[in-house]
Amino acid sequence: MTDVESFRGQLAEFLERELPKRLGELPPPTADYWGGRKPELPHPMSKRYCEAMAERGLTAPTWPKEYGGGGLDKEQAKIFAAELRRLHLPVPLVGFGLSMIGPTLLQFGTDEQRREHLPKIVRGEIRWAQGYSEPNAGSDLASLAASARIAGDELVINGQKIWTSYADKADWMFGIFRTDAGGKKQEGITFLLLDMAQPGVLVRPIKLISGASPFCETFFTDARAHTKDIIAGIGNGWTVAKALLGHERTMIGDMFGTVAAARNKVAAGNPLAELARAYAGERDGRLADPVLRDRIAQITMDERCFALTMQRSADSVKAGHKPGPESSIFKIYGTELNQRRQELMLSLRGPQCLGWEGPGFDERELVQTREWLRSRGNTIEGGTSEVQLNIIAKHVLGLPD
Ligand SMILES: Cc1cc2nc3c(=O)[nH]c(=O)nc-3n(C[C@H](O)[C@H](O)[C@H](O)COP(=O)(O)OP(=O)(O)OC[C@H]3O[C@@H](n4cnc5c(N)ncnc54)[C@H](O)[C@@H]3O)c2cc1C
Repeated sequence: MTDVESFRGQLAEFLERELPKRLGELPPPTADYWGGRKPELPHPMSKRYCEAMAERGLTAPTWPKEYGGGGLDKEQAKIFAAELRRLHLPVPLVGFGLSMIGPTLLQFGTDEQRREHLPKIVRGEIRWAQGYSEPNAGSDLASLAASARIAGDELVINGQKIWTSYADKADWMFGIFRTDAGGKKQEGITFLLLDMAQPGVLVRPIKLISGASPFCETFFTDARAHTKDIIAGIGNGWTVAKALLGHERTMIGDMFGTVAAARNKVAAGNPLAELARAYAGERDGRLADPVLRDRIAQITMDERCFALTMQRSADSVKAGHKPGPESSIFKIYGTELNQRRQELMLSLRGPQCLGWEGPGFDERELVQTREWLRSRGNTIEGGTSEVQLNIIAKHVLGLPD
């Protein structure tokens, strides 16, 4: 038996026999669990499922074992993902800990910082928020003004962050703060971690057009962080912040690449075509509207190509390649692809997508309207498309300013 077969066998033994015995009942396949001190349970078993997987490091399959991860190599991680899909099991844990600050700590953190924070992420104990944007520092992030003043072994933080996703549900924040106001604006920025459960941190949710409130404004009034939670030293935050954005942009692109890959694995038919049949009808066994047929064929091909590209990128990340400026390409393409898909689904359902609540619309139609509205933010979060184009022009293509 090869190593690969033996690994697949051990994994199947765990996932198919041991895990169900421990859980009694498994979570549904689509439920995302974010963990944290005040967890929302999309399913009664979500927390126990996460904990059972975390015991083997399988919430962070490729992170080193010494920090609680699974220590899997690239090939093993692919097998693990395939086994989850085969058994219709969800990824056990999601969040900014796994996708953003974790990889950044592996890149820039000290051994002590990794030992302190990574195992808590793996076990789903701490949920993280990202404190980057400010009212006057979005695309021009280096203009940020929220300050951190060193006082002994602490930093005293004052100012405001905005658009902090899920800050009201998060336990800790990673963010960038100004420790020196002189010199170039990129200098004097420090990347630090802070506990949000303290009197100096005030979080206020912002209501969006989609009806949800995933965003918050976060205010700091003499809030405290420890100097041991400064990453890569005082004044070196800009480099760390940019590297983290690389992870974030890859994650955003990958989100739509993975969704596309999952759709492409649906053996029986194309979900978009099924939707078109249901809403726009068919003639002679084909979709009645030739324009819709073209749009569906085009988007299906584009999604398949993108899924393959993201798979190649994921392989190279697992092999040790750090996401660079090329992650902007994935971010732009993935988010615009999702917006095209949402527009198409809206056209397919037609007036049935004009509903917000009440009778006349089914549950899925009401969700569709909200998903379409939410997708507008995809090309803004993690840096707007215009900003990504600037990065690609300068740092990938080497064009002059
Ligand atoms: C869904 C979502 C989630 C988010 N989550 C977080 C979070 O968790 N934490 C966080 O810190 N932030 C978060 N953000 C904020 C996000 O990073 C900012 O909205 C984004 O960086 C843009 O900044 P801004 O909104 O200030 O727009 P601005 O920077 O004011 O931009 C306004 C417009 O000007 C254009 N523009 C600006 N500069 C240039 C330029 N040099 N060249 C060409 N065009 C330009 C932009 O493309 C945009 O169209 C989130 C945003 C969204 C939509």
